[in-house]
Amino acid sequence: MKSKAVFLDRDGVINKVMYHDEKGIYSAMNAKELHFLPKVGKALKTLKQSGFKIIVISNQPGVAFGYIKAKDLEEIDRKILKSLPVDAIYNCIHHPEFTGQCNCRKPKHGLFNESIEKFKIDVRKSYAVGDNLSDLKVDLPFRKRFLIGIKRNDVFNFMHQEKVKAEIVKDLYEAALRIKVEDLKICQKPPVTDGWHDGLKAL
Ligand SMILES: [Mg+2]
Ligand SMILES: [Zn+2]
Repeated sequence: MKSKAVFLDRDGVINKVMYHDEKGIYSAMNAKELHFLPKVGKALKTLKQSGFKIIVISNQPGVAFGYIKAKDLEEIDRKILKSLPVDAIYNCIHHPEFTGQCNCRKPKHGLFNESIEKFKIDVRKSYAVGDNLSDLKVDLPFRKRFLIGIKRNDVFNFMHQEKVKAEIVKDLYEAALRIKVEDLKICQKPPVTDGWHDGLKAL
């Protein structure tokens, strides 16, 4: 049987987005700068108990810009894998202006396809949680998608224009609880009966 998964964005979903007066918003440059958001452990535990694979898919163009070293990104990944029940982390380390086009920068599907193949995932029974337009633009048939703490017009406009549905949640824990409820609905659907068994019952 195929697996079901929850695809997570990283920054703003499992860890805090960094802010610096001069640099503005930026991604953690090393493991020390990576701070998990509240209740993330609890959220992922809930999802694992419901039988989901947890796949993190993240754009980290800082590596292409040169302000994040590849070895520091590896250290960040190790910290996440050690601290949380995450099954795999996939990073796009490219940026079109610095490293040319790639097929893995979200909203492209490269990294999703890689993980879908590796873990034999049924996307229609899977969910996506993000916090940005690039997460929303991933054009895959997830059962549902969630956006954390979004109050931005460009995001709302995109949802409206493209008719992409996403539920806005406070944090990953709220998303996890909603996913759990939604997943139970699938499990509790009565099994499809075929005519042969119906016929037997009638005898
Ligand atoms: Mg993000
Ligand atoms: Zn890439």
